Amino acid sequence: MSTGTLKFSLENISQDIVKGNRRSLARALSIVEDGGPDAVWLVRKLFPYAGRAHLIGITGSPGVGKSTLVDALISEIRADGLKVAVLAIDPSSPFTGGAILGDRIRMQGHTLDKNVFIRSMANRGHAGGTALATYDAARMLEAAGYDVIIIETVGVGQSELAIAQTADTTVLVLMPGSGDDIQAIKSGIMEIGDIFVVNKGDLPGANKTASEILASLELNPKGAEWKPTVHVTNAEVNEGVNLVWKSISAHKACLESSGQLKERRKHKLQSELSELVADIARNNLKNSLAHSPQVQQLLNRLLDREIDPHSAAECVVEDIYSEKRK
Ligand code: GDP
Repeated sequence: MSTGTLKFSLENISQDIVKGNRRSLARALSIVEDGGPDAVWLVRKLFPYAGRAHLIGITGSPGVGKSTLVDALISEIRADGLKVAVLAIDPSSPFTGGAILGDRIRMQGHTLDKNVFIRSMANRGHAGGTALATYDAARMLEAAGYDVIIIETVGVGQSELAIAQTADTTVLVLMPGSGDDIQAIKSGIMEIGDIFVVNKGDLPGANKTASEILASLELNPKGAEWKPTVHVTNAEVNEGVNLVWKSISAHKACLESSGQLKERRKHKLQSELSELVADIARNNLKNSLAHSPQVQQLLNRLLDREIDPHSAAECVVEDIYSEKRK
């Protein structure tokens, strides 16, 4: 296919996405997940449409009931008349072109609803990469007119938290007696949770877990604008989920009225920008390091112990900048 034809079909995809075509949206999501020039082209084209949706990150250990909760939240969100998309970041399996988590039975209550879109994406294993793909996937969904985008990740490790932080509002889900999770929360991830949900409230110990979370929140107070909330839910029978949705909406309203939404988004764009610059620099560098005569000279000096690696690296960087200034 010639580049012209390819661009034409990308052009079609981008136009169809804006019109709300789900098949084009699905194709675009595969393209941005794979990365590369087509992904860059689509993002460039659709970026002006992004920035309107409320991005909600939902994370927690496997089995705590995230998907059941997301399913129940979808009903609440739809009841408010909003269009909702779910990006489920699959922890391990390679991308298969379809929804893996989304295919699971519990989300099927919404498959006939044209205002609900559920899709899974592979976790690339390194936090930065998946977070970058998540930003771009969210942009495609925003261009398609989704008001709310839920990003569901599995686990409370570094990678999941990086992804969860691509959101405006981050919800951490736990279940009663999840001592390990609470330890993890105490040891640093507390700051990233805006809303805490103790699901499986029908099991013993739910209130105790909720009080433990509240107690650690009091020990580590966040900014003055938003005081994180703690909810007990029984997602399976939709109990307490309405209050979680209310709290998520209240959090967004608070971010907007305090000016923090803009601040947070700016901060996120800054991380994305530095990640992208680092990517480009890494790729360019490999090439120039292998081919530049100056670098070969430096390598020989390094071998002869005439210069140390740190100073050599500084020389390379200085060379690059002075080259650019010429
Ligand atoms: P995820 O791995 O965090 O997405 O968890 P799932 O949503 O797949 O739920 C794991 C299991 O917990 C499933 O068998 C659910 O039916 C069950 N579950 C979900 N919510 C509740 C709840 O509120 N109470 C009880 N008892 N079980 C629940």
